[in-house]
Amino acid sequence: MNICSAAAELAAKYDNFYLYDEKMIDRQINDLLTSFAPVEFLYSLKTNPARAVVRSVFSHGLGADAASLGEVKLARSFGLPPDKIQYSAPGKRADDLAEAIRLSTVIADSIGEIQQIQSLAHALHTTAEIGVRLNPDFSFSADTGVSSKFGIDADKALRFLAQANLPNVSITGVHVHIQSQTLDAAGLARYYENVLGLALRFQTVLGRKLRFVNMGSGIGIPGAADAPVDMTYLGGHTSARIRALGEKLGGARIIIETGRFVVGPSGYYAAKVMDRKESMGKTYIILSGTLNGFIRPCLARLVAHYAPNGPLGGREPLFTGRDFYQFIALTEETEMETVTLAGNLCTAADAFAEDVLLPKLKPGDVVLATNAGSYGAVLTPMQFSLHAPPAQMFLRRDGSLCAAD
Ligand SMILES: *Cc1c(COP(=O)(O)O)cnc(C)c1O
Repeated sequence: MNICSAAAELAAKYDNFYLYDEKMIDRQINDLLTSFAPVEFLYSLKTNPARAVVRSVFSHGLGADAASLGEVKLARSFGLPPDKIQYSAPGKRADDLAEAIRLSTVIADSIGEIQQIQSLAHALHTTAEIGVRLNPDFSFSADTGVSSKFGIDADKALRFLAQANLPNVSITGVHVHIQSQTLDAAGLARYYENVLGLALRFQTVLGRKLRFVNMGSGIGIPGAADAPVDMTYLGGHTSARIRALGEKLGGARIIIETGRFVVGPSGYYAAKVMDRKESMGKTYIILSGTLNGFIRPCLARLVAHYAPNGPLGGREPLFTGRDFYQFIALTEETEMETVTLAGNLCTAADAFAEDVLLPKLKPGDVVLATNAGSYGAVLTPMQFSLHAPPAQMFLRRDGSLCAAD
């Protein structure tokens, strides 16, 4: 079974559903592992925590990037040890921290949080091995930093650690993450190089070897009109840099964490055609569940409506830009027409796309939206109008289907 035949089969039972293709997950992970030989990868669970997806990703040996205690526990439920789970988020709860220092590697997000972990570890008669998230003094486009709610400004962190008294905290690694969804391989290569440089400076101030350098994410997936990231260049360049620094970094694990690259292209959102109609010269295809099934194409259309001449900046993970999704009509029909793909909610904001050219659709046909594997089901509020939420299904590499969650 392939995606189209699986979607056709599922459409007999469900009016709208997500479908994840394990073979594509395999392909994406193999691309990462072969392009970046000396790098270890963490899967960012927040992008898609469906259990079948997570099991598949972990079967390749990836660790977990967790953004909450719930995600730490999800990773633990698959047997991952604490040093393969990094828990990074601003504003963690004290209770969560106390539990997470046993279950994972906590990445402290502020000086206050480092001090809080010191108190918690003291009370628990333990030493907490943690990483520190740094807000770097560079960006993707410049040699200066940008104010951020994430992490500790690099110079502040270095000053603090040079004089801090932290008997129950052992800082074993650094973490940097400043941008998602970048397709520019040269920019990413420069960014990773800068992170490695910052880690070396940090190591010097700390006065001992780091155990890990988490370089964050950044690697994007192509939209309908984009070229993919040149992984051969990016992986080759970054791997060479890591090998050249090998001695100075003293065997530290070099980590990249990514969500969308791993699962974004594996996912499809399927919506059944419920009705079609014409109004004042426009043809509307009414689908089952757009805004309340897969919100991102609706947001893209909304932003494009208010800024028709672009260029549009992204605001991940809510909005990437125009032309990020393709809409595939599952039909034998060959006659084409220009339509608006709207949904079945009582709001005009509920539409995937306007004036798209598609084969002529009739009720019962299915439309697939691409790039729905990451920040799809998890970001979509599925509560409007008490419609049933979409099913989440998983096409295994052996061609069989199962529930994803
Ligand atoms: C969300 C997130 C990621 C993953 O981003 P993708 O664009 O999905 O790869 C990585 N690191 C951190 C800290 C994040 O918050």
